[in-house]
Amino acid sequence: MTPFDSREFDAHELVLFGSDEATGLRAIIAVHSTALGPAAGGCRMWNYASTDEAVTDALRLSRGMSYKNAMAGLPFGGGKSVIIGDSRRKTPALFEAFGQQIESLGGRYITAEDVGTTTADMESVAKRTRFVTGLHRRAGEFGGDPSPKTALGVYLGIKAAVRFRLGRLDLAGVRIAVQGVGGVGYHLCRLLAAEGATLRVADVREAALERVRDEFKATVVPVETVLSEDVDVLAPCALGAVLNERSIGAIRARVVAGAANNQLARDSDGAALQSAGILYAPDYVINAGGIISATREYLGGSTEAQVVTEIQGIPSRLTEIFERARREGRPTNVIADQLARERIQAAPRRLVA
Ligand code: NAD
Repeated sequence: MTPFDSREFDAHELVLFGSDEATGLRAIIAVHSTALGPAAGGCRMWNYASTDEAVTDALRLSRGMSYKNAMAGLPFGGGKSVIIGDSRRKTPALFEAFGQQIESLGGRYITAEDVGTTTADMESVAKRTRFVTGLHRRAGEFGGDPSPKTALGVYLGIKAAVRFRLGRLDLAGVRIAVQGVGGVGYHLCRLLAAEGATLRVADVREAALERVRDEFKATVVPVETVLSEDVDVLAPCALGAVLNERSIGAIRARVVAGAANNQLARDSDGAALQSAGILYAPDYVINAGGIISATREYLGGSTEAQVVTEIQGIPSRLTEIFERARREGRPTNVIADQLARERIQAAPRRLVA
């Protein structure tokens, strides 16, 4: 299969296949759109079963970044890269070679960490290119781990969804199930608990559970049943594709709003949620706090307060989507995709970022 034949191709501007014999690097850099600015999106390192699988992942994630950045109102297009390999065997030299390939694109693509890559890996990339963000925080500058910023946006988004669907202005006594209490889930629980929400949490890591149980009085529930808990809100903060044919019928929450990327297994699962009377907060709209943080770090000159103000725009964007979905009787994910495409199409096309 060539990228052109992939169902996910969707008019990508550029797909680069890069290799470096000395370090064993095999990378795919996908640039979906630079209409709104240089393509920004993280680098995933994963032991893909085949090159086709890696291409599909890169293309799907890259288009998702175009939509996420457009909806967040950022001056960036969408792109993503994948490195094929076992992240337990990565080396600094591999990421330097990857940095060299990013440099060759002259700024059309800006990378950051994602699954399987870390801040330290991005520091290696930064030895060869300046088109990278998500680095260690420099004294006196905004930056660092984006997870708390993602959690802030999700928390504000949950409040907007609860207000819209349940008519509640605060979260006191609202029952919320959080699937995955890692980087984002932990900070989300902190914000929710501070407002009096009742938390049920599930994770495959005992240490992560202990922390939220002790600090926020969360009740631990089995990973097998977290999606079908009798709660008001379900917040998926672990894996993608958790909203699917099998799970949707069992969801008892009236609101699904969480941080995980690609929560819907298929686009049509958004319609299934709508039919079940469940309000779904489109993932790439509610979880944009992290990319807002990473791109402001990249551009420089932003303060913590300015970034927080920008993240505070997430609930009003969600409410606009909820209202339009209700007015037009269409699923929220379809409305979000349409709004994102409109924003991208309204920008003048440009080939050089
Ligand atoms: P993380 O790896 O720190 O946390 C994920 C947690 O989920 C881990 O504690 C893991 O043990 C747990 N988990 C894995 N499988 C599980 C299962 N089957 N059931 C329950 N828990 C399970 O990741 P993160 O940075 O917190 O990101 C969480 C999600 O949000 C991911 O989908 C990520 O792509 C997305 N996201 C993260 C950011 C960010 O700023 N970190 C930004 C946007 C989107």
